[in-house]
Amino acid sequence: MKIKQFIQRLFGSKQRKPSSGGTSANPSEKMQKMMAMLSATREEELTCDEVFALLDQFTELAAQGEDVAKLMPLVQHHLDMCDDCREEYKVLKSILYGAA
Ligand SMILES: [Zn+2]
Repeated sequence: MKIKQFIQRLFGSKQRKPSSGGTSANPSEKMQKMMAMLSATREEELTCDEVFALLDQFTELAAQGEDVAKLMPLVQHHLDMCDDCREEYKVLKSILYGAA
């Protein structure tokens, strides 16, 4: 799941302040879910492509017993949120550990 793209789709390509034109819409369930997602999203967010690019290194460090959550917190954070990348990480890990 690509949070950034999801949000961009909802808001348009650029972030803009919601115009308070007097109409106060009821916060829908969708909106509440989105706010929850937003609050879980950090300012610096990696895309799946960026994570894929770092995943080799991330996996190697993890295999060496390094604390990857501290070394590459953004990758770890993305893996926590993204099923696709977590799946990829699993595969890489199994290859790496399997070959060791
Ligand atoms: Zn991802």
